[in-house]
Amino acid sequence: MEIKILEATGDDQVVADAARVSYDGKGRKSTDDQLIRYLMRHHHMTPFEMINVRVYVEAPIFVFRQWHRHRTFSYNEMSGRYTKFEDEFYRPIGWRKQDGKQTSHDELYDIPKADDLMNEAYRTSYICYQELLQLGIAKEQARIVLPVGMMSKMYASGNLRNWLGFLKLRLDKHAQWEIRECAKMIHDELEKKYPIIMEAWHEYHFESVTLTLAAQCEIRGDEWVGSSGEKAEVAATLAELGLDRILEINKAAEEGLEHPS
Ligand SMILES: Cc1cc2nc3c(=O)[nH]c(=O)nc-3n(C[C@H](O)[C@H](O)[C@H](O)COP(=O)(O)OP(=O)(O)OC[C@H]3O[C@@H](n4cnc5c(N)ncnc54)[C@H](O)[C@@H]3O)c2cc1C
Repeated sequence: MEIKILEATGDDQVVADAARVSYDGKGRKSTDDQLIRYLMRHHHMTPFEMINVRVYVEAPIFVFRQWHRHRTFSYNEMSGRYTKFEDEFYRPIGWRKQDGKQTSHDELYDIPKADDLMNEAYRTSYICYQELLQLGIAKEQARIVLPVGMMSKMYASGNLRNWLGFLKLRLDKHAQWEIRECAKMIHDELEKKYPIIMEAWHEYHFESVTLTLAAQCEIRGDEWVGSSGEKAEVAATLAELGLDRILEINKAAEEGLEHPS
């Protein structure tokens, strides 16, 4: 997979200047750093739309399927109707085991049988693709035998607010490893170009945790009603915050027991 940032306009100051127009650049004397952190903290996000970032991506089609769900970007992708696909397929550096319904562990396994199956499927589908083309079948139809591991190319362009939204979702541990890798590459480039913005985003958006009303009740020891799924989510949030002790205290109180601590 390959990502190239083709254009990343402006700098941290562009965002601060855009925000300062609110009061005509007069009066308040906050630094760019203070102002950007204030904007991020209070979710005043339109100044971040003043920056545009355009990237070139080479990735498998299954990554593009996920990426294209982000509707606020502009895209141009290689057309399988006009261009013959090259014999280029995505080969993972290792295999991940299924974990629950959707996700996988990040741990990688070397499974030669899985390599063989993948290579055989890629080889067969590409031979069939070429034979269909040799029969004079149009590229737009011949491609139907190609798998989602086929590599494709695209341009994606959007303002920085869009990219921050993309990164929040696609750097998350729940996102698939492959798109997470793409998101990491973009993130690292944005960090170099917009250090103040990215630091504030980390602090106030990416690393922030939403406390639902149920979680607040749990912390206060108030009663609340929720499904077992929601209870597990609240427990996970409190554990993430290092507050899982509160769950034990509340449980002990419910059962009329004295908490050991
Ligand atoms: C871990 C993970 C698992 C996922 N699993 C699935 C799945 O199983 N099935 C599935 O179908 N999708 C799945 N998705 C895709 C997900 O549902 C979103 O489509 C995708 O993450 C894009 O998010 P978005 O709509 O916020 O982004 P964008 O489309 O970029 O939109 C950005 C923001 O603009 C606003 N916006 C954009 N368009 C509209 C609109 N039409 N109406 C109102 N507001 C709008 C919203 O505030 C939105 O948050 C998954 C995503 C992730 C990260």
